[in-house]
Amino acid sequence: MKYSVLLKGGRLIDPANGRHGGFDVGIDGDGVVEVAPELDPGAAARVLDVGDSWIVPGVIDLHVHTSRRHGGYNAHRMMARAGVCTALDMGGPWDEFIGYAAEEGAGLNLAALQQARPGQTVRDEDPSAQELQELLERSLEDGAIGLKLLGGHYPMTPESTRRAIEVANAARAYVAFHGGSTRTGSNIEGFVASVELARDLKLHIPHVNSYCRGQIKERALDEITEALDLLEENRNIISEAYLATINGTSGRCTDGIPESKATQQCLTLAGYPATEDGLEAAIRDGWARINAPIGGENVNITGEEAVKSWRDRGTVTSVNFPVNPPESRLLAATARDSGGNFIVDAIASDGGAHPRNVNVTSGMALVRTEALTPEEFVLKTSLNPARMLGCPTKGHLGEGSDADVTGIDPESGIPTFSLVGGKLVLWRGALVGSGSTILTTESGRASLESSGFQTRVIDVSAGMLYTGRPSDPFSLPA
Ligand SMILES: [Zn+2]
Repeated sequence: MKYSVLLKGGRLIDPANGRHGGFDVGIDGDGVVEVAPELDPGAAARVLDVGDSWIVPGVIDLHVHTSRRHGGYNAHRMMARAGVCTALDMGGPWDEFIGYAAEEGAGLNLAALQQARPGQTVRDEDPSAQELQELLERSLEDGAIGLKLLGGHYPMTPESTRRAIEVANAARAYVAFHGGSTRTGSNIEGFVASVELARDLKLHIPHVNSYCRGQIKERALDEITEALDLLEENRNIISEAYLATINGTSGRCTDGIPESKATQQCLTLAGYPATEDGLEAAIRDGWARINAPIGGENVNITGEEAVKSWRDRGTVTSVNFPVNPPESRLLAATARDSGGNFIVDAIASDGGAHPRNVNVTSGMALVRTEALTPEEFVLKTSLNPARMLGCPTKGHLGEGSDADVTGIDPESGIPTFSLVGGKLVLWRGALVGSGSTILTTESGRASLESSGFQTRVIDVSAGMLYTGRPSDPFSLPA
């Protein structure tokens, strides 16, 4: 048989190959082998009639959380249902990430950044270059593709943060920094300081919208405008932003205080004391929503039921606050520079275990309102993310690409099916995939394969973080 799977029907939207229209997609094994208006179903072991669905390059979500603290045992199913084919776990911790990837895998490709967190993976808030170097080397050997600096939640000093970015840059490893330090918070001031800390270096700044909630300036609009202006001036920084209203942070309290600075800020924002009692009151009132595992997914609950769920788990839960104003979310998703190119490179969800895996559903809402063209939707949810990871066989569906495909109902914006590496993961709303393929660097392959993982080596140094943006955003990823 020429094709192991043939996608028949549907509307293919693949801007990197200049295709938009009725095409059949022929897959053999884990790759796309032929794309044409009409392919012979007789040459296929299996024909999938995809009806009126849009067929887009597999969605790559560059910002998810799958660790225990976030309720990660449900994350893989939640992502698969949301049409995600490939995801980057923004911060581990590695052992939890890899444990759930082994036990709870829903058939996706996954990569991870290991966290640099005072008291956990580094001794204190001011680790030396030597200590950071050792953390990075260990993490790469385990299979992570780089480091996540958790400033906004668990800050380090600005000097140490800069050292961590330098160490990662020297190794050409991935590095992302949730802005904030011992001197600034997770807000527009923290964002401005992050850009300054990254001067002359390469850095991924996650969730651009989240620094712009109107905490410092009077209007969120002024904050997102400042953030976008800074990103336009500092193209050494790559970035993503999310579309959901809720944020995601930790509900854990020690000695009567929420351990995360972000949680403290969210309480203050609505006039609650930044204490355990304040958090309990906010949960009861519905300002804080507890992330609870119900029916194999994590959902937001509030009120007494939520207080009980949080207490029963010793406060070790995720908590979500509806703190993201639309002006920040929508501008981060759609704003362009003077050359007409997007300022923020990707739409990511900051979801996974957090119930906000809305890249497809909310991204498609932007398409329906003509804020994004279908091609731009693909650019932001797959093509640019593939470039950012350094994976040129993803982000498009040309002959020779990976057979990662997301199908979407164009009317509702709901994912209808997905394939990852040529295997069905989602089909008509049912999850049919299992296992995980780990995207790793050359340094991590041996250890992962000895633990029985299927791996795929990517080259972060050849990705957008280190090589910059292409002059034509719709060109094939190099
Ligand atoms: Zn995050």
